[in-house]
Amino acid sequence: MLTPRQLFLRHQAQTSDFPLLLEIERAEGVWMYGPDGRRYLDLISGIGVSNVGHRHPRVLQAIQHQLDKYLHLMVYGELVQAPPAELAQALHHTLPPELDNVYFTNSGTEAVEGALKLAKRHTGRTELIGAHNAYHGSTQGALSVTGSESFKRSFRPLLPDVRHLRYNHVEDLALITGRTAAVIVETVQGEAGVRVPAGDYLRQLRRRCHDVGALLILDEIQCGFGRTGTFWAFEQFGVVPDILLTAKGMGGGMPIGAFIARQDIMQDFKSDPILGHLTTFGGHPVSCAAALATLRVIQEENLLAGVAEKAARFRRQLRHPAIRGVRGLGLLLAVEFESFAVLKPIIDHALAHEGVLTDWFLFCDNSLRLAPPLTITDAEIDWACAALLRAVAHVTGTPAG
Ligand code: PMP
Repeated sequence: MLTPRQLFLRHQAQTSDFPLLLEIERAEGVWMYGPDGRRYLDLISGIGVSNVGHRHPRVLQAIQHQLDKYLHLMVYGELVQAPPAELAQALHHTLPPELDNVYFTNSGTEAVEGALKLAKRHTGRTELIGAHNAYHGSTQGALSVTGSESFKRSFRPLLPDVRHLRYNHVEDLALITGRTAAVIVETVQGEAGVRVPAGDYLRQLRRRCHDVGALLILDEIQCGFGRTGTFWAFEQFGVVPDILLTAKGMGGGMPIGAFIARQDIMQDFKSDPILGHLTTFGGHPVSCAAALATLRVIQEENLLAGVAEKAARFRRQLRHPAIRGVRGLGLLLAVEFESFAVLKPIIDHALAHEGVLTDWFLFCDNSLRLAPPLTITDAEIDWACAALLRAVAHVTGTPAG
């Protein structure tokens, strides 16, 4: 009989020649456990998903409760089901009042796709503008607005009428004109290596979109749901998007995403054509029940209040001559090294010898990704930092000062 590892390599489609190949049997809180009982501290939350930790008891309870009632019943938007309806209201209550209408999807990418279509339909325009080094997903629409030519080249032609501006460059805002249907940016860029909006960049972007009648889409698929210390990252920058995107951390470990807008924008999906965006599984009741529990955990366990202090605790300890700096916002952090050649063996050593799971970024390979569950304790942060510093010292041959 083949082992799961052999089956994975033989029958599961591979997307690189160097998958992590770590086998996990169960997970709890910030820890993942291998079949041999070894444990790994998860410092990346499955790439920004496990914001409330793995298998949070309240999330499990909500899932169980829904399992006892019904699973899938019908395609999107026909039957009244309490989990999506209640989740939509709870999301609305975390938002400025105008963002009152939620379309549920299966993933972040699908939220991007729906939002791009909505913007074209609502404005009657075709041009879409993204940012360099942005990641929005791997389907052809989301890939079109993604800002990496090397990711896109082999799949062209993609969407026509797409342009890219440089994130944080106010002078590029002139690219946005009366032809533009929408500008899509991540409030804090994730895969670019955690790039935080500088000064009043987002406010100026917001103003420019408003002035020319383009919709502003903020992608908070990675930076939302508490990751940066506020429920939504945009709260920290004095702007409100026309369309907000969420996924990943939203489901507490279950697959779900959403795009959120004003009702008068969203209602354009009702005509020309009717059923302007469809999904079979979007708003799945079990995922929605898990998402509502996740939202409540963030609010009722006061997770946001601890984020800044936990981030500061990482930043204080992660000092070493090989570390060039730590960037980020809240618990979305990038630890910068000289190069991938230095960073990669540190990541490998931390995993193999310290039991600490980290990563780099799609479009920034000299920086280590830190995005632990927001539930991580001070003791776990101290343990993680000591382990990471041992890995850095081992690989560079230089002890932490
Ligand atoms: N937008 C951003 C900012 C992301 O980080 C991601 C996933 N890394 C996506 C969109 C795509 O989300 P998903 O993988 O759920 O389709």
